[in-house]
Amino acid sequence: MPRPIRCRRIQHMPSATYFKPAGVRMIDLQEIVLNVDEYEAVRLVDLEEVEQLKAAESMKISQPTFSRLLKSGRKKIAEALVKGKAIKIQGGNFKMVNSMRKGLGRRFISGGRGRMGGTAEGPGGICKCPNCGHEEKQIRGEPCVNKKCPKCGKKMGRN
Ligand SMILES: [Zn+2]
Repeated sequence: MPRPIRCRRIQHMPSATYFKPAGVRMIDLQEIVLNVDEYEAVRLVDLEEVEQLKAAESMKISQPTFSRLLKSGRKKIAEALVKGKAIKIQGGNFKMVNSMRKGLGRRFISGGRGRMGGTAEGPGGICKCPNCGHEEKQIRGEPCVNKKCPKCGKKMGRN
């Protein structure tokens, strides 16, 4: 009987799950599937610079297993870059865990490199009314100050 695969703990789901090279026709496009556990291994080591041993611990898997995930994840990403393939992130054996930061509020989570930090100036921001606190999604390319609060009519600002 095959050994059951332990679920790997994932702290972050990818913010985008499909990457496609520009200028490649769909019909010619080859796709690489990057599993979520491979994605997490690469994220921890290559982006967050966590030591492999600690990263393996945080995913609740052995170091050799982690090492294999990291290697296959890196290889897939490299292959996509070199050969101009699309990357689809999906599947894998994993389980979302509550990160320790959960519950501390958005502002705290952002801490400079989170979602808020990264997107504050870009599209997808939040406009907030300084008068009544009404919030709404910013329309791409449209500054918040051009918008009036639908509740009280004051000029909106950046959250
Ligand atoms: Zn308002």
